Amino acid sequence: MQQLRKMDRIQIAQINKYNVIRCLMREGPINRAAIAKRAGLSIPTVMFITEGLLKSGFIRSIGKGVSSGGKPPEMLEIVPERFFYIGLDIGRTMIRAAAVDAVSRQVACLREPTDNPVPERKFVDRIAAIILKIAAQLKTENDRILGAGIAMPGLIEKETGAVLFSPDFGWNNIPLQEWLAAKIPFPVIVENANRALALNEVFLMGGETSHTTFAVNLGYGIGAALVIGEDLYTGASGTSGEIGHITAASQGPICHCGNRGCLEAVASGAAIAAQGKAILESRRPSVLGDLAGGDPGKVDAALVFRASDMGDREAARIVNKAAEYIGIGLSMAINVLDPDRLVLCGGLMRNSPSFLEKITASIEAHRMRQAGRAVIISAGTGGEYSTANGACRVLSNSLWWNRKLPV
Ligand SMILES: [Zn+2]
Repeated sequence: MQQLRKMDRIQIAQINKYNVIRCLMREGPINRAAIAKRAGLSIPTVMFITEGLLKSGFIRSIGKGVSSGGKPPEMLEIVPERFFYIGLDIGRTMIRAAAVDAVSRQVACLREPTDNPVPERKFVDRIAAIILKIAAQLKTENDRILGAGIAMPGLIEKETGAVLFSPDFGWNNIPLQEWLAAKIPFPVIVENANRALALNEVFLMGGETSHTTFAVNLGYGIGAALVIGEDLYTGASGTSGEIGHITAASQGPICHCGNRGCLEAVASGAAIAAQGKAILESRRPSVLGDLAGGDPGKVDAALVFRASDMGDREAARIVNKAAEYIGIGLSMAINVLDPDRLVLCGGLMRNSPSFLEKITASIEAHRMRQAGRAVIISAGTGGEYSTANGACRVLSNSLWWNRKLPV
């Protein structure tokens, strides 16, 4: 019992501190009384916590603010350059890296094509080199870089950061976190890419923490993550969110996961590109063929979208069909989960503004009448580096809750 009480006290202190930092992060510069009000804490508690944060150099005073009657209050803010996080988004076509500062502002980024992800050890050497490259861009001491978060498509073992299965990469049981940790001078954590993306999109939406958000990543593959408040729902064995591998067309093409007709096999970026290539191989004249200069090797999803917008009827059929399938998949998610918000993100969403409308129309056509009627459907706002920024959030959350954040 005594043990339990001590544990409770530590946890409550940790949660109080988290809430104070959250206020400073979202509303800084801010004074102590305003923090107390927002965080629902007493002023002495806020004074105690901010004293510790000032001592550790995590926050600083920027002088007096405007008085609301009494003496002008001291304004506090987080010191942005106090430390940095690195995040990598290991996509099947592009690797994107970002570094963010202590107030979650992106301060560096780079990207390079993924190329061949095997042999795995050689590929992991490349990932390590990219981490060191972006660390060098920060021009700061290594001890200010708190680590690297790695967002990877596929099923990740939570305890070890091993990639259990990544259909996109053709990887099975690769100890990614362990291999990287041996090559870089900071802590490293591996998480599923859709979850990293979802955390960042929820952070960007700010506001209420009581919302349930279902975030979908439409890119080379298709995946999703459920965020309840600000916490990820990971499932009993950690594999939740694999909406790309629900069966969309039971007689459809074989998916790279091994099953037939998965949503990802008929509507992902890879599937759209494959269907576009087939148009060229049929040798019929087409806008897509002209755009690709007759070379099927030059056809990717972005080009199919472009051809569709330019009036290529075959390309438009591919895009519309993909939107229809995605809408069917998401209507299932809405019927089952009844979320507050459905956020559509990923490379496919950046190809055409009308894709969101098409998917929304399909959702409306397929979801059960009256089901999920509170859901707000929107496009993600984090842009190209949203997943990489999310990987930074995965790392900062992990360091925080394991009490390894130096604050
Ligand atoms: Zn599949």
